[in-house]
Amino acid sequence: MISNEIHSIAFDADDTLWVNEPYFQETERLFCELLQDYLPPDMISKELFKTEMENLNLYGYGIKGFMLCMIETLSRVSGGRASLTLVDKVMELGKALLQKPVELLDGVKEVLDSLKGNFRLIVATKGDLLDQERKLKKSGLLDCFHHIEIMSDKGASDYRKLLKHLDCKPEHFLMIGNSVKSDIIPVLEIGGFAAHVPYHTTWAHEEVKSGVGHPRFIQLTTISEIKQLL
Ligand SMILES: [Mg+2]
Repeated sequence: MISNEIHSIAFDADDTLWVNEPYFQETERLFCELLQDYLPPDMISKELFKTEMENLNLYGYGIKGFMLCMIETLSRVSGGRASLTLVDKVMELGKALLQKPVELLDGVKEVLDSLKGNFRLIVATKGDLLDQERKLKKSGLLDCFHHIEIMSDKGASDYRKLLKHLDCKPEHFLMIGNSVKSDIIPVLEIGGFAAHVPYHTTWAHEEVKSGVGHPRFIQLTTISEIKQLL
């Protein structure tokens, strides 16, 4: 039981509260299909990932940056010869991604309802500001949260800034999320607690091969299990 120590609990949003990565993967599949005259799908995927990594520092995370990366990849693999009609189709794929339904993951609503009276609940997520605000509104979860933090990155210094803003000591903070790289390792590094809820698929950039062994680390199978530990 760690409830005596924890005052504030932050939740990652994408693939922790609601479905996200499968939507991106579906869009990527359609993008590869659009470009099949130039390269086979697995090669297009590799090129797209390369473009995303090259631009991450400029664009940050989120759908709008992803759209620009799709267009840049289209331009590169077509040798600059792709038609504007194809560019329009890529834009449509991105706009469709911005209008996907918000599908809550199993147990999320119940967990938030049961915790919100006893803890200060926070959303700590990356992504486009407007898109994450849209998803939060559509999710019906806004009332559960004391604070929403849409972060440009999730490194140790970003979490330190968040905790300063919340006036919360790391030893009183628990982060729950699906990404070991973004939600777990930096929070343990600054002295907080971190609980990992695995999701069935992870973006290649967020993948971490090694396991986490740490006294303040909690491995969960489902998000609902956190209720028993608090
Ligand atoms: Mg996530």
